Amino acid sequence: MTVLTPSAVLVVGSVALDSVETPFGRADDVLGGSGTFFSSSASHFAPVQLVGVVGDDYPVDKLQPLADRGVDLAGLEHATGTSFRWRGRYRHDLNSAETLETHLGVFSNFRPKIPEQFKNAPFVFLANIDPRLQLQVLEQVNKPRLVACDTMNFWIESRRPELVELLGHVDLITLNDGEARQLTERNNLVQAARWIMERGPRYVLIKKGEHGAFMFTPSSIFFAPAFPLESVFDPTGAGDSFAGGFIGYLAATGDLSERSMRRAVVVGSAMGSFAVEKFSNARLLEITRADIEARVQEIAQLVAFDAKLEE
Ligand code: AMP
Repeated sequence: MTVLTPSAVLVVGSVALDSVETPFGRADDVLGGSGTFFSSSASHFAPVQLVGVVGDDYPVDKLQPLADRGVDLAGLEHATGTSFRWRGRYRHDLNSAETLETHLGVFSNFRPKIPEQFKNAPFVFLANIDPRLQLQVLEQVNKPRLVACDTMNFWIESRRPELVELLGHVDLITLNDGEARQLTERNNLVQAARWIMERGPRYVLIKKGEHGAFMFTPSSIFFAPAFPLESVFDPTGAGDSFAGGFIGYLAATGDLSERSMRRAVVVGSAMGSFAVEKFSNARLLEITRADIEARVQEIAQLVAFDAKLEE
């Protein structure tokens, strides 16, 4: 049997305190941020190196479970000032968050510094942060095998030129359908994906919340459903957890064939479904490999059918 050694995944993203209201309750100042959700998810598959910044008000002991899971926190800067905070609300449409407040805090002056021992990571994920910072990260790393990025409406509105510049430097982008339409000014998602691919990325992953996700490649389109949960508790972090499962799985196998990437999309979908079962990253930290494998099987069953039509 061949034993695969997973490649390291470098992630640069927000490490936040989130306050979230959903129809099922609210949570204040809980662990959040794109970097945190991504790491919680990807660490089930590969060693993760997290780069970000927290202020002196951050409950760093709450990050210990991540360190226990093998997330290397050497690149987490402790700055003077207040931590990044995001306040959001979900109404009955759990697919889209309404941002009530974004407090950048120590993020305003953050310049990512990639520790020497992280610079050769074969897989790099530029999680949702200011595109100018995402570009600064790419200046510091040594020829990764795969560079992927994420973004959101906040940056599409405020940093569009830098975001379009970033597209020229990444292999893959993940974004949700609303963000894809906003970025490309195309309503049709196939056209939106093509618009993005013309600017750089070979792969475009468009997530549609409870309606699944598309992966566009230069020669194909793949679709994976979301797992139909009976109750969604808090959708925050689903996108980053999806990306963590997707990239983490690719780093674990080292296989970038289309077959493997399709499986990675389903792993991403499974991880997104776990993220929303509890507030913050609580559920992601308690699941086991067996839980993940079972959910991937359930998703496969959802779309398994015999495509041969009877005469
Ligand atoms: P998602 O996976 O898309 O639900 O991402 C949710 C996470 O994104 C939350 O934990 C927030 O802390 C974080 N977030 C929200 N707004 C921003 C922003 N403008 N920049 C970076 N991270 C953000």
